Amino acid sequence: KARTSYYYTDASIVKSLVKKRDKFSHKGTFGHALLVGGSYGKMGAAILATRSCLRSGIGLLSIHIPACGYEILQTSAPEAMAMVDKEEKLISDIDIPDLTKYTAIGIGPGIGTASQTAEGFKRLLEQASKPLVIDADGLNLLSEHKEWLTLLPEESILTPHPKEFERLAGKTANEYERLDVLKKFCSDYKVNVVLKGAHTAVANAVGDIYFNSTGNPGMATGGSGDVLTGIITSLVAQSYQPFKAAVLGVYFHGLAGDKAAASKGYTALIASDIIDCLPQAFIEFG
Ligand code: AMP
Ligand code: MG
Repeated sequence: KARTSYYYTDASIVKSLVKKRDKFSHKGTFGHALLVGGSYGKMGAAILATRSCLRSGIGLLSIHIPACGYEILQTSAPEAMAMVDKEEKLISDIDIPDLTKYTAIGIGPGIGTASQTAEGFKRLLEQASKPLVIDADGLNLLSEHKEWLTLLPEESILTPHPKEFERLAGKTANEYERLDVLKKFCSDYKVNVVLKGAHTAVANAVGDIYFNSTGNPGMATGGSGDVLTGIITSLVAQSYQPFKAAVLGVYFHGLAGDKAAASKGYTALIASDIIDCLPQAFIEFG
């Protein structure tokens, strides 16, 4: 029977994993991330991931969006470089030149599940040679086409909430059974899974599971997950090993949420507040 090791992600674990920024570093040192997100009416999800990616130390960020998102993106995140799809309202071909130059690719927030988007998504799965970060509708597309799970580059990171995980891996009777399914899913497809919740579980293909210690119920609000996608994509792009990027990203996301709750409270907190507090979260770890 496969081994399992359980951990609790606390400040000391995080301290041991965080890399210091060298005095002589330059933007090339911190990677070039690519995000693929948004559709008509859901550009917000892409913007949230973009802004959190920028606030998590990325060197350069490009984002592929539907044409309708161009002005929205350039005004709300001027630091990011925008590439527009040939479609106005959704993402279709994802025909991105020179895919290999990106040090991480995150896909999913706000993309919807239209058939053209599904086709573009499949092509990206076939072309990608490095781990992908997949969230939201990207996960829903995988659930609708389970045969694509075998196309996932090794070490990819999937970030489902419990409903998305259930669609991907099937229903379970209780949370113990869900952990077994989580382990098996990670080992079957050689991926990392971030199963989101109050104590998010981050699992890898060899049976390690890290339970997160940060976060609060104020984060149970639309867009919270999109913020996490941006953070994890940023850390992978900065060449953190994917599983470590996931563990760290989940911790900093929750810590920023805790800082946000300290001034806004649980009730009023919105996802943008989490991004606004990322600086305070990262500063604690140098
Ligand atoms: P999503 O459902 O994709 O928007 O993701 C929600 C995010 O907020 C995940 O990262 C969750 O871990 C986090 N979150 C939601 N509810 C709570 C909670 N009660 N305590 C801590 N974190 C939470
Ligand atoms: Mg989500």
